[in-house]
Amino acid sequence: MQKGTISVQTENIFPIIKKFLYSDHEIFLRELVSNAVDATTKLRILAERGEVKNEIGDTTIEIIREADAKRIIIRDRGIGMTEEEVLKYLNQIAFSSAAEFLDKYKDSAIIGHFGLGFYSAFMVADKVEVVTKSWKEEGTQGVRWTCEGNPEFSIETVDKAERGTDIILYVNEENADFLSNNRLQELLDKYCRFLPIPIQYGMKTEYLDVEDGEEGDENKEPQTMEVPNIINDTRPLWKKQPSELKEADYKAFYRELYPMAPEPMFWIHLNIDYPFNLTGVLYFPKIGATLEATRNKIHLYSNQVYVTDDVRDIVPEWLLLLHGIIDSPDIPLNVSRSYLQSDTNVKKISEYITRKVGDKLNELFKEDRPAFEQKWRDLGVFIKYGVISDKKFDEKAANFTLVENTKGEFYLLNDYKEHIKANQTDKHNKTVCIYTNDPEGHDALIKAAYNRGYDVLRLDTVLDNHWMQHIEYKAESGIVFVRIDSDTLDKLVQKDEKRESVLSEAETETVKKVFEGISSKDGRVECSALAPDDQPVVIVRPEFMRRMKEMQSLQGMGDFPDMYNVVVNTNHPLIAQKLVTEPEADQKILAQYLYDLALLQQGMLRGEALTYFVNKTLSTL
Ligand code: ADP
Repeated sequence: MQKGTISVQTENIFPIIKKFLYSDHEIFLRELVSNAVDATTKLRILAERGEVKNEIGDTTIEIIREADAKRIIIRDRGIGMTEEEVLKYLNQIAFSSAAEFLDKYKDSAIIGHFGLGFYSAFMVADKVEVVTKSWKEEGTQGVRWTCEGNPEFSIETVDKAERGTDIILYVNEENADFLSNNRLQELLDKYCRFLPIPIQYGMKTEYLDVEDGEEGDENKEPQTMEVPNIINDTRPLWKKQPSELKEADYKAFYRELYPMAPEPMFWIHLNIDYPFNLTGVLYFPKIGATLEATRNKIHLYSNQVYVTDDVRDIVPEWLLLLHGIIDSPDIPLNVSRSYLQSDTNVKKISEYITRKVGDKLNELFKEDRPAFEQKWRDLGVFIKYGVISDKKFDEKAANFTLVENTKGEFYLLNDYKEHIKANQTDKHNKTVCIYTNDPEGHDALIKAAYNRGYDVLRLDTVLDNHWMQHIEYKAESGIVFVRIDSDTLDKLVQKDEKRESVLSEAETETVKKVFEGISSKDGRVECSALAPDDQPVVIVRPEFMRRMKEMQSLQGMGDFPDMYNVVVNTNHPLIAQKLVTEPEADQKILAQYLYDLALLQQGMLRGEALTYFVNKTLSTL
């Protein structure tokens, strides 16, 4: 046996490795299994080139758990290493790359903590043994390298029957949970599920089928067989050619990835070699009630090795609503996150995905507009998110951004503008889109708007305020949006004409005082000469203030008070003819009644006030 000391350039890295990335000790498994996959792939390439003399045989990688001995073994049948290679790769290359890695990334978050390599074994083990035999020296002896988490190591020749490498981890007390079957299975599922070489974890019981024609005997023990438990799918869907795949395959793969999620709407298969390599499949999910529930479901892989679920700096923010897999060896993984966004490949990849998404939506719209309209409820949020945040997508999206009116009809935004222009253009020559976020609650207002020949849009998703703002800011759009309750019907589409008031100034002032006496402090009273057949009292929420409040609360920025105006229609007969002629006490009663009626319409009349109102109404019948 030969003993030696690993040349320590900077400092003893073992304590650092052990402490490093405390919560992420589990990555040792990915790092070691990836090495095993690499060694096996290399062997297969050599065999293809005819450089390996004998058959390479079964190259399944094995993960062996020995709970009692507190060991985990990662066994491959890959190229293995000669003594010389062990000294070179494990003592020099692996060691110095780990040292370099730690030196660089001790303090920064790098993607999925990828690339610590062989030395990550020391995160969980106090002692690591490598028993290996090279493909080059079939028939000669193997080598055992042992290191106990300090710079000393020993190396000796041993008998090893088969080519390949065993990495034997003597798992320490602190990391004993990795020795539990469930925990290990969970990790294998997370990191190894789609690796390209079969990976076996123990055995599993398979039930043998009852042969055709044979009666199944209930009393007979079912026939079983122990078979290797292969935990991975070596040729996952995204690595296949789209031409090999059917709709059902994509759906089945989605179910496998997200068992609890509803069926996706559609998907794009990414498959590009040049100028960067990118494969994957991205699904458009049904958007849940909250955007958060839908976000952050993209898994990043590098050559089928799982890296992370956090692709924030790789995929543009709005595309994080997509689900699925992206797999690219061209995304730099051992750089800090802040560097990623400026990386040229990452930029190109992100642009490529954006373009693909735009193309797909365009294609779906053109191919089957009715189906596209049906999906609009789910698609709209996603598209609007893109429109707001990505200039290039915004340009493209004009071809498929729809608006839906309260009658359930869909229009492209530009077509809609044409449709309503004649009736809904204001004195500034802007086309006014009237919308509701609550068709049921605004039912009376919507009916009144119809009577006036107006059309009403339904805009009720979380992003609509931002989207409207975005469209309004584009000078060329010539559009403004007003919610149906933001002003009286008369003033939603502002024209120059002014209606004459039936009341004198003094009478108007009296009316105002009466209403000010009863409305709460949140409502500002305003007298307005509206059409006699408009409502006598209306509660309105000025568009700008309301929208700001909603947008700020969406961003979690404070709770602004609900501000509204109480508009009294001084031309309504109940005001112009009745209220002004009543004695003061009766004025108050009538005003209260009309005010409550307006609150009721807004769903703002509650508790005692509501009970009082109902009782009073009943007593008049
Ligand atoms: P990297 O894989 O990034 O080169 P590692 O620290 O993981 O760095 O490994 C260092 C080297 O050790 C590898 O490049 C490889 O040559 C060798 N090696 C590690 N694991 C194995 C293995 N299971 N079989 C053969 N060689 C291996």
